[in-house]
Amino acid sequence: MITGLRFLIVGALILVSVACSREQAIADEQQIDLISYGRWVVTMDPAGTIIENGAVAVHNGKIIAVGSAAKIDEQYNAIKTIPGDERVLMPGLVNGHTHAAMVLFRGMADDLELMDWLQNYIFPMEGQFVNEEFVKIGAELACLEMLRGGTTSIVDMYFYPQVSAQVFEGCGLRAILGAPMIDFPSPGFAGWDDSFAAGVEFVKSANYSSRIIPALAPHAPYTVSPDHLREVVEIAGSLNAPITMHLAEDMAEKSLIEQRYSTTPVRHVAALGMLDTAMIAAHVVVPDEEEIAMLAKSKVSAIHNPTSNMKLGAGISPVPAMIKAGVKVGLGTDGAASNNDLDMWEEIRLAALLHKVANNDPTAMPAMTALRLATSMGAEAIGLGEATGSLEVGKQADMIQIDMSDPRLQPVYDVISHLVYAVRSSDVVTTIIDGKIIVEEGEILTLDSAEIKRQVIAKSDEIRAALTNGTAEP
Ligand SMILES: [Zn+2]
Repeated sequence: MITGLRFLIVGALILVSVACSREQAIADEQQIDLISYGRWVVTMDPAGTIIENGAVAVHNGKIIAVGSAAKIDEQYNAIKTIPGDERVLMPGLVNGHTHAAMVLFRGMADDLELMDWLQNYIFPMEGQFVNEEFVKIGAELACLEMLRGGTTSIVDMYFYPQVSAQVFEGCGLRAILGAPMIDFPSPGFAGWDDSFAAGVEFVKSANYSSRIIPALAPHAPYTVSPDHLREVVEIAGSLNAPITMHLAEDMAEKSLIEQRYSTTPVRHVAALGMLDTAMIAAHVVVPDEEEIAMLAKSKVSAIHNPTSNMKLGAGISPVPAMIKAGVKVGLGTDGAASNNDLDMWEEIRLAALLHKVANNDPTAMPAMTALRLATSMGAEAIGLGEATGSLEVGKQADMIQIDMSDPRLQPVYDVISHLVYAVRSSDVVTTIIDGKIIVEEGEILTLDSAEIKRQVIAKSDEIRAALTNGTAEP
C-alpha cells in the first residue's frame, strides 16, 4: 500500500515536472512579431546562401534570425506567421531609377529618339498635364504595380516630390526621392532658380519616417549648366543629401557635351566635383574605359536601365566592365513612358540576356550577378546596403515571397535560374517592408486598388480629351 502510494506520488511528480519543462520551453521561446517561411530562402548574403525549408524571424521591423524553419520554430514564437510551401523567400527588389508618376504617360509616345522623345513629347506633355493631382494618382498607380511585383525600395525623380513622398509613406514603400531641378520651365517652375529653391526646401523641411529619404535631382548635364551643378554639389554637401541625375545616357548627350564643353559627360561632371559625392547616376551607357576607372574610384554609382536604353536606342551600357572595374552598379526600370512598365523581373532578365549578346559571351552576366543587381548590389548602389538588399540579421525586414507552384516554373533544379529566367512579377505573393506586410496572398493591403483604377481612368480620359481637342502641345 505504502509502496503503491509512493509510486503514485513519484508518478505525479514526474508528470508535473514534464508539464513544467514544457511550459518552460514555451516561455523560453521568444515572442516576436513575424516568422516568414520559404521552401527556398534565397538570402543574397555575400556567400549567396540558400536555405532549403528555411525561415526568417522578424521583430520591430528588423531581421533577428535567418535559418532552418525547425531551428527558428524552436527559438521563436511569432504573433504572425506566413507559410512558405513551394515559395521562395528573398529580399525585396531595389529599383535604382524611376519616375513613378509617369505611369500616367504609359504608352503615349513610343519609338522615338531620346532627344526627340524628351523635347517634343515628354517635356510638353508634362508642362500641360503634370500637377499635384496627376502626381498623386500616378504615384499611387505606380505603387500598386511596384509593390505587387516585389519592389520594396526605389529611387524616384519626379515633380512635386512632396506629393509622391506622402503616397510612398502611406503605401509602405522605401524611397529616395529626388526633387527635380532643371534650367528651363517645368511643371510648377519658371526655370532653375525656383526649381532649385524648391528642391532645397523639400530636403530641408522633410519630416518623414526613416523609409523616405529626400534627395536632389538635377535632371542631366545637358539640361543643367555647370554653375548650377556646382551649386547642387555644394548644397548636397551641406545638407548631407544624396544626388541623383541622368548621366552619359546616349551618343546624343555625348555629342552635346562635346560641343558645349569639349569634354565627355563623366569628365564634365568630374570637373564640377560631382564624382566626390555619393551620386546615384542613371544609365551611364557611354562611358569610355578611363571614365569607368574614374567612376570606380569615386563614390558614384551607375544604375543600369536595360529596357529604357533598348527602347530609346540609347546603346548598351558596359555593365560587366563596370562591375569588373569596381563601379557600384544597380538596376532600374526608368519611367513607364520609356519602358513601359515598372517590372524589375523584366530588367533582371534583360540585364542577364543583353550583356550575353552584346559580348558574344554567355558567361558575361551570370544569373546570380543579374539578381544581385536588383538586390544586394542594387541596395549598395543607392546607399542603402546597410539597411536592405539581403536577408541578414540586423537589416530591415524587406522581403518577398514568390510562388513557384505554377507549371511554368516546374521542375525546380536551380532556384536562382528560375528567379532570373522564368519568374514573372505576377508570381510574387507577399511583400513585406520594415517587417510590415504590404502584399498578402497577392492582395495589396495599403492602397485601394479599385479606387485608384477609377481615378486613373478619369485622368486618362481628361488627357485624351485635351489631346483630341488640340489644347495640348504634342
Ligand atoms: Zn530617367
